[in-house]
Amino acid sequence: MSGCYDRPASLETALRLLAAGGWRVLAGGTDVYPAHVGRPLGDGWLDISAVEGLRGIRSIPGGWSIGAATTWTDLLRADLPPLFDALKAAAREIGGMQIQNTGTLAGNLCNASPAADGTPVLMALDAQVVLQSVRGSRRIAVTDFVLGARRTACAADELVVAIEVPARTAAARSAFVKLGGRRYLVISITMVAVVVDVDEAGVVRRAGVAVGSCSACAQRLPALERRLVGRPADPGLADRIDPADLAPLTPIDDLRASAAYRLDATATLIRRALADVRGEPVSAGALG
Ligand SMILES: Cc1cc2nc3c(=O)[nH]c(=O)nc-3n(C[C@H](O)[C@H](O)[C@H](O)COP(=O)(O)OP(=O)(O)OC[C@H]3O[C@@H](n4cnc5c(N)ncnc54)[C@H](O)[C@@H]3O)c2cc1C
Repeated sequence: MSGCYDRPASLETALRLLAAGGWRVLAGGTDVYPAHVGRPLGDGWLDISAVEGLRGIRSIPGGWSIGAATTWTDLLRADLPPLFDALKAAAREIGGMQIQNTGTLAGNLCNASPAADGTPVLMALDAQVVLQSVRGSRRIAVTDFVLGARRTACAADELVVAIEVPARTAAARSAFVKLGGRRYLVISITMVAVVVDVDEAGVVRRAGVAVGSCSACAQRLPALERRLVGRPADPGLADRIDPADLAPLTPIDDLRASAAYRLDATATLIRRALADVRGEPVSAGALG
């Protein structure tokens, strides 16, 4: 390791440094710095914020690529189809404006907090993570990337270089609803992301539903996703939820909420998110 901090301009240099060992990645630092309050940061921080080509959202064959240094504000300002409404709704409630200006989607995912707002949205979108090292590059689904609380499939010499979101039809819609004790600067009690794609007849052809803050890492609800497919995207869609659909969730009791309350609130948020993708009003974050 060559020093305590480096901010390379090229991906090649960043990967070479990571291959040499002893480096930890720093993007916006909005998870890293608060985790070190009252103690030194230590050596070996590889700041990727200046790496050329890592920032921004671009169209690629079959979808979009979100560069690893793309901030929440970049996402909010990007011209994107309604498929991205859930990701933008999540972006609007990440901390405050300063956090959104600095924090990145990739950092949110790599930090692997059970309460990371971006993770359930990326799961419902069927997003893939693009990892690169001097050994080559690989692509894995977000559901396989996040292994548990603070655990990901990113090897020590790998860098997440992009998150890819597959294209859907122009009719695809998405929604994100989060419940916390107050509106901003809050760790979610539960959060729900829903992505629904419908055909010309208004029938659901694909559904993605994922829940965060109710397990060690965000979980998709495959039984509910299957039941939504083939149904008309009408007001009855929100009534399709069955309590057994929440079986993949393993919420805990903590100071923010009991496990039972989390499950109950999650069912309500799913109904609201399903109402939202049909264009009906949803009061994000409100109880009741
Ligand atoms: C006041 C405040 C409010 C917040 N509110 C919310 C909130 O409402 N919802 C929410 O979900 N989060 C919230 N956060 C947490 C944080 O802002 C987000 O998770 C943010 O998106 C993290 O991105 P970052 O670029 O700052 O990550 P960093 O802090 O730079 O990195 C986070 C982790 O990811 C790793 N990492 C980063 N980029 C890469 C990469 N490309 N490849 C491999 N590893 C990488 C780092 O090594 C580190 O372990 C809040 C934080 C603060 C301080």
